Amino acid sequence: MSFVSGLQCRECKRKYPVRPGAACEECFGPLEVTYDIDGWKEAAREGRLLEPVHSMWRYARLLPLEGPPRVGLETGWTPLVRSRKLAATLGLKELWLKNDAVNAPTLSFKDRVVSVALSKALEFGFTVVGCSSTGNLANAVAAQAAAVGLKSYVLVPADLESEKLIASAAYGARLVRVLGNYDQVNRLCTEIADGLGWAFVNVNLRPFYAEGSKTVGYEIVEQLGWRVPRHIVVPMAGGSLITKIHKAIGELQALGLAEKAPFSVHGVQAEGCAPIVQAVRQGLDRIQPVKPRTIAKSLAIGNPADGHFARRTILESGGSAESATDPEIVEGIRLLAETEGILAETAGGVTVAAAKKLIERGAIPRDESVVLCITGNGLKTLDAIRGSVQFEQEIQPSFDAFLSLVENLTPA
Ligand SMILES: *Cc1c(COP(=O)(O)O)cnc(C)c1O
Ligand SMILES: [Zn+2]
Repeated sequence: MSFVSGLQCRECKRKYPVRPGAACEECFGPLEVTYDIDGWKEAAREGRLLEPVHSMWRYARLLPLEGPPRVGLETGWTPLVRSRKLAATLGLKELWLKNDAVNAPTLSFKDRVVSVALSKALEFGFTVVGCSSTGNLANAVAAQAAAVGLKSYVLVPADLESEKLIASAAYGARLVRVLGNYDQVNRLCTEIADGLGWAFVNVNLRPFYAEGSKTVGYEIVEQLGWRVPRHIVVPMAGGSLITKIHKAIGELQALGLAEKAPFSVHGVQAEGCAPIVQAVRQGLDRIQPVKPRTIAKSLAIGNPADGHFARRTILESGGSAESATDPEIVEGIRLLAETEGILAETAGGVTVAAAKKLIERGAIPRDESVVLCITGNGLKTLDAIRGSVQFEQEIQPSFDAFLSLVENLTPA
C-alpha cells in the first residue's frame, strides 16, 4: 500500500500528480514527493509502518513506490559502528560511523537512491534508464539496471577514477565518457531525457530518487534505539543527501517514533569544490557555482542542484559547514583506516577531516553525540592514497630474509 499523495514544488508549493519530471512548470523550482501524513500516523500507531526486513525496504511505506520494490532488495541497513579509537583521537565522548562503504550491491550510499529510482522507472514503464554521475551513481545504476534487465546509459566526466569507470562498464552499461565536468554532463542528460524520453534517475526521476536518501536517516535513528544523535556530519555533492537525512529524522519525530530532541546536520565538502560551504560561510542566499578541482571526485559538483536547500537545512538545524583540502582528505582516509579499520573513499576522507575541524573550532562540542556518514568505499579511489602508504622492502621467500628485514625495521 502506498501513502504517496503527489508531487509538490518546493518553492511555490504548486501540486502535481505523480509522473516523471523534476521541475515546477510555474517557477522551475524542484518537485518533491508528498505523502498522506495521517495515513502514516495511523499505520505507525497500529505498528504496521515498518516492514519486518533488514534492508532499506524496512521503510518502504515511507518511500514513493506504488507496489513492492523491484530491485536492490538487499540494499541498506548498513552497520552503525560505535567508534572508540577515532572518538579518542578526536576527543569525542560518543561517536558513531554510519558505514555505507559496505552498502550492497556497489559499496556506496547511491545504491539506496538507485533502488528507489529504478523500481519507480519500472512502475512508470520505462525500458531505458540512465544517469549523470560523479562515479558512484554510475556504478549503482549500471549494476542494478543489469540485475533487473533494464538497458542503461551512464554518462560521466571522462577524468573519473578508473575503478569507477571499469566497474560501470563491467555490468554491461553503455558507459559514455564526456569531455567536460559533471555540470556539463548533467546538462546534457537533461537534454537526452527530454529528447529521447528515457528515465534519468537524477534528472527526470529526481524527486523519487532523492527520497531513497531518507533511509540513511531512518536507519541511524533506529540503530541508536530510536534515539536522535545531536550531530550528523554529511558529505555534500548535489546537496540532496543532507536535506533528506534531516527530513527523515523530522518525519520519525512527527510520527512519534523518535524522541523530539534537537539535532544539527553539518555539511562538508572538498576545498576544491565547496560552493555550498562557501555560501554558508559568506552568508549568501544564492550558491555561486565553482569549477571543481579536487581528488574528491564523487563530490565534485560545481553547481549543486539542491545547494540552496542544503544551505538552508544546515542553518535551520543549527549546523555548520566545513571543507577539507586534498592533503587533509588523504589524512582523513588514513586516520579512519588506522583507527577503525574502515577504508573509505575520498568523500569519507572529507567527512573525517572536516569533522575534525568542526570539533576543533567548537561547532561540535566534544561531550555531545556525533554520527559521521561514511558514504563510499576506499577500494574505488586507491589512487588518492597511493602516495601516502608505505610498503616494506621486497624480500626473498626465506626466514632469514624476513628476520633481517624485521631487525632493520624501526619499531612501529
Ligand atoms: C553522491 C555522493 C555524495 C553526496 O550526495 P548528494 O546527495 O549529491 O549531496 C556523498 N558521498 C558519496 C560517496 C557520493 O557518491
Ligand atoms: Zn513552483
